Parts: sequence; structure tokens; C-alpha cells
Amino acid sequence: MSEQHTINSSLDENRKFSASKEFSANAHIKSISEYKQLYGHSVKNPEQFWKEQSQLIHWFKPFNKVLEWNKPFCMWFLGGKTNVAYNCLDRHLSTARKNKAAIIWEGDNGETKTYTYQQLHREVCKFANVLKQKNIAKGDRVCIYMPMVPELAIAMLACARIGAVHSIVFGGFSAHSLRDRINDCQAKLVVTTDAGIRGGKIVPLKENVDKSLEECPSVQSVIVSRRANAVSSSNSSSGSAICHMKDGRDFWWDDEMNHENLSSVCDAVEMESEDPLFILYTSGTTGKPKGILHTTAGYLLYTTLTFKHIFDYHEEDTFWCTADIGWVTGHSYIVYGPLSNGATTLMFEGTPFYPDPARFWQVVEKYKVNIFYTAPTAIRALAKEGIEWTNKYDLSSLRLLGTVGEPINPEAWMWYYDNIGKKRCPIVDTWWQTETGGILISPIPGAIAQKPGSATLPFFGVQPVVLKEDGTEAAVNEGGYLTIKYPWPSMMRTIYGDPERFKQTYFSKFANLSETLPASPLAGISAGLYFTGDGARKDEDGYFWLMGRIDDVINIAGHRLGTAEIESALVSHKSVAEAAVVPRPHEVKGQSIYAYVTLKQGVDKTHLLKDELIKHVAAEISPIAKPEVIHFADNLPKTRSGKIMRRILKAIAEGKEDVGDTTTLADPSVVAQLLQTREI
Ligand code: ATP
Ligand code: MG
Repeated sequence: MSEQHTINSSLDENRKFSASKEFSANAHIKSISEYKQLYGHSVKNPEQFWKEQSQLIHWFKPFNKVLEWNKPFCMWFLGGKTNVAYNCLDRHLSTARKNKAAIIWEGDNGETKTYTYQQLHREVCKFANVLKQKNIAKGDRVCIYMPMVPELAIAMLACARIGAVHSIVFGGFSAHSLRDRINDCQAKLVVTTDAGIRGGKIVPLKENVDKSLEECPSVQSVIVSRRANAVSSSNSSSGSAICHMKDGRDFWWDDEMNHENLSSVCDAVEMESEDPLFILYTSGTTGKPKGILHTTAGYLLYTTLTFKHIFDYHEEDTFWCTADIGWVTGHSYIVYGPLSNGATTLMFEGTPFYPDPARFWQVVEKYKVNIFYTAPTAIRALAKEGIEWTNKYDLSSLRLLGTVGEPINPEAWMWYYDNIGKKRCPIVDTWWQTETGGILISPIPGAIAQKPGSATLPFFGVQPVVLKEDGTEAAVNEGGYLTIKYPWPSMMRTIYGDPERFKQTYFSKFANLSETLPASPLAGISAGLYFTGDGARKDEDGYFWLMGRIDDVINIAGHRLGTAEIESALVSHKSVAEAAVVPRPHEVKGQSIYAYVTLKQGVDKTHLLKDELIKHVAAEISPIAKPEVIHFADNLPKTRSGKIMRRILKAIAEGKEDVGDTTTLADPSVVAQLLQTREI
């Protein structure tokens, strides 16, 4: 990574946005100096820092060792005992939070349900007893395949309560993907729903479970909650989903929970700090999904602390994260982080477009949401629809906004800031991964000024380093590999059942480089250096700019260009709604740029516009970054979590007929359209 480059954009990249004086005065962390002081302490004395922070959670038994680092494996809080469900529920019951709303649920059609901490506790204890009756014990794996209904949160907390390991599979996945994930973790029980309802449509979840279980010998029982009023297959009527119940294997949630002998008392199991909490498969953007294993105490502490500071959570706030609990964002910031802090978390079953593109804003107004956390893909899609939708509702309750999942282009950031936050709300652009368990790089909103498009500075205890191919540190603004040089408590512990792949994927890249030079960032730690797979650069203020996945970084005649930056340049043109760029081989330059561009509504696809876009990129970044091809695409291939799948776009641009695995795509038909219109 040799060449330096900076965006020469119409949006000055050093323009900073700070929270208001009032926001900072009320924040947990109030100033940059306070952040710097605490950050400095957290990296100079990490064990001391985490020991101090450990007071945030309840321990049945105190730990006697903070960290054991047997590179690359780490263990935290050894000797300690705690329980995640106890921390999320029981400890609030003796406080004023007992009758506070824990979960407010908004259904697809606007129906609503609220669980106070006390009510949620009762349901969780009961369901934990149901699991025990079905022979689920500590360490057993339970697969949860459900839509966004409260029973999903109840099921995961019930697993945590008795020490069962949950593996949640996003409800949009097919029978095939579900089967592979169940078999990989050898789940003994599946919790599902007759069917899901999303955007007014029925999703046949139980049918998918039935199909996958034909090839899942480990599963002994299935518990089915009712959502879509599905009828059993023997007396089906048109218009309803069908739900076949297999005798001896399948049980209705209601029948089990309403059983007169079912106790609502269930003690939380005292878990060792390093007992597994859950397995979660990554989105599969880059290949075969990996079963990421997270454990108990470190994960709990880290999600609790990041939730408190990054979302600057206060007792009276209503917090809404629009992710699905099937992704890590939902695990950490719909359920565990918020509940451990005693927060009110909003759980939303629907989509941003149903019944119309104002749905998010209508829900914000309805519940007076204070903190709103969503994905750049949703922001870009809603921006494309125009501001008449955002102006329909009162958004004055909002005080903080957040994003996660992909780099956010400065253009989309500004749209969010102006139209949703009304120039009042700080935005936290949170960089993290399934593997990291919680947010690693993000503004702390009362303390760190934001620059649109930058995830800014590391969270306490996190030590990111940008490295060049040879293992030396990249210079200011020089792109490179984003790595983390010291463990943090919610770091993944392994890939379930495959520690070799864990080492290979995340720790091999720099493991064999010399670490003898005292000035090297690898000194003493290269075998434990976590390789994130993302590219990044650090600017003169120490702010991190994510460039996209390292495999996507484009190398033109020795110049390294981040896909994220070229895409941002394209999106900054008035006609462009969305863009994705990929490299393709070029005889002279090594690689050239192939850009897929989705235009805004009503814009014509002309050659003139293509030329204009190419010139625009040259002016915004540099002539080196000029796309060789502009491919107007009505839709881009995205994962079910809304991320653009560049692996597929790359295969199409390279002229391949076989584009590889498309099972994690939200809409596989997009691929055929692109193959027909590609330019070779
Ligand atoms: P797979 O690892 O299976 O390919 P995935 O990486 O998409 O899937 P996740 O763990 O859900 O699975 O996503 C993490 C990735 O998302 C990060 O590595 C990064 O590329 C991207 N990402 C998340 N948040 C941000 C952000 N704020 N800015 C830039 N990129 C982000
Ligand atoms: Mg990943």
C-alpha cells in the first residue's frame, strides 16, 4: 500500500460536526479530553481498566484473573461466575425498573405489545423451564429461526438463563441455509414460528424448518410459536399459511407455556465467564459463513459498556435499532446491551417500506424514539424516495442517530443529518463485525466530533493499527489492512468446531513477520494480531476511514483505491442513488475499475451521463480512479442484511458465467439481470 490519496471532494472531508453544548453537558463522556484520558488509561493498563469496568455487571462470584492470552486465543475474567439473563432481567427487578418497559414491540401491521422487566422475566423463566422439559441442558445448542416477535427475545434469554447455547438463523434464510447451520452446530432443538409476516407477506418458516429437518438428525424437538394463525395441514383453508405438526417432535409454544404444571420460577445458572453464550454465522458476504462463537462475561460486559457510552443511553430514553435479531447487531444492541443497561428497546417486525416509505418515521413519532440506529443501505434507499416522506412525521424526540453495516458515504450521512436529525442529532457511525461482538470504532457522541464518512476513533481498550503488506505501520492517510493489536472482552473465541480456520482466517496474515524490531507495531504480539479483513486509513486527526473489504480494495498501477471512496464519489453525483465498484484484470494497469450504478428515479440511462460520471470521479478523487466501465443496474445483489455482495459483482465484471454461491442473497434474480446487461 504505497500511494497516498485523499478525496478531493465537494464535501470537505475535514469538516467536523460536534454535538451541541447541551448534549455534551448531559452526556456520560462530555469532552474529547475526558475521552482521551480514559482511552489512554484503557490501553496503558487494559487489565486494570477492564477490572474497574467489570463493576457494571453482576457477578455471582468475582473473577481472579482479568485476561489470559494464549495467542491467538484469549480468555477473560477467569474464575468469575455470572449469567447474562440474570444481568438483563433479575437485577432490575429490585429497582424502579421493575415495571419499566423492557421491550416495546411494533408489529408489521402496527399492532403493539409491551413487556415490562417483570413480565419479561416471568416469560423467560417459564420458557427456560419448557426447554428443560425438552431435555435441554447447559451446553446444548438451540437453533432459533423466527421473525421479529417478542418470543425470539424470550427464547434467547431463556437459553442464556440455563446455559444453553443459542444459534439464531435469520428468518429470511432458506431451508437449505438453515439445514447447513443446524448441522454445523448440531442443534438439539429448534424454536420457530408457524409463519412470519413481513411487509404484508407471509413467510413460511415452519415449512422451511420441516424441509431442513429431513436432513438434520441432531434435532429432537421443535417448538412453534403462533404468529400468522397458520392452520394445521389437515384442515387448511385458502389464504392461511400451513403448518404441519409432527407428532412427538413438534410442540406449540402456547400449549407448553400454558401448561398448568409449568413453574414460573427458574434460577439462573451460574455460568463460568468463558462458558459459550451463542454461535452466530456471519452474513456470508465473502464466502462460506463462519460459526462465530461468543462467550459469557466478556461479551456481556463489552456490549453493556459500549451501549451505555456510544448511544449515550439515559434512563428515560427509548432506543430503536432497526436491525434483525438474526444479525449480530440485533443480538448486541436490541437485546443484550440495552436490557443489561435496563433500557427500553423497541423491536420492529416490519420493513421501512410497508405500508409506505414513511414507516420508520411514523414509528419514531408513535413511540417518541430518542435514539435511532439503522443501516446505510436503508438510509440510501429512503433518501431515494424523497423528503416528502420524512416531513410527514414529528421527529423532534430524536436526539442521537447511528449507522452500522457498511461504510456510509458522506452524501448519505449528510442526508441523514439534515433530514432525520434536523441538524441537531450527532451521528455515530459504528464500525464492527460479528467477530468483534460489539462496536470497536465509533464516535462517542458527546465527546468526539464527527466527520461524515469516518467511523472516527476507537472505543476504550481497542487498539486498531493500519498495516502495510510488509507489516509496518501505514503513514497518515495511507491505506492498509485494519488490524487490532490487543484483545478486548467481546472478541470471538473461535470458529465453532474449527479452531484451525479461526487461526487461518484471522491471525495468519502477519503471524510470521519479524517482531523483533522494538518500534514495530507487531512487537511481541504478531501471533495475536487480529486481522479484520477490512481496509482502512487513518487521517491526521487519528480518525479511521473504512475503505471496504480488503479483497475489494483496487490496485491500479500501484495505486491502492478503496471501493468505498470511489462509490462515495459516484453517489455524490446528483443523478446517482447507489453505486458499487469492483476491480477487473487489466493487461497494462493490473486492474481497472468496473462500476455498477443505480440511478435516481426518473433519470435516463445515457452515454452522455456515463461520460459525465467518469469525469466526476476523476474530479472528486483523481484521474487514476476513473471507472473503465459504468454499468447502469436497476438493482444490486445484496445479502439479506442489505450489504452489497461485491464478490458476485466481481465475477460478473470478470466475464464469468458461474458467479458462485448466491444462497445468502436477498433476491438471487438480480444476478441474471446483471449478467444480461454486463459489458465485457
Ligand atoms: P462475511 O464475514 O461472512 O463475509 P460480513 O462481513 O458482511 O460477512 P458482518 O459481520 O455482519 O458480516 O459484517 C461486518 C462487516 O461489515 C465489516 O467487516 C465491514 O466490512 C462492514 N461494516 C460494518 N460496519 C461498518 C461501518 N460502520 N463502516 C464500514 N464498514 C462497516
Ligand atoms: Mg466479515
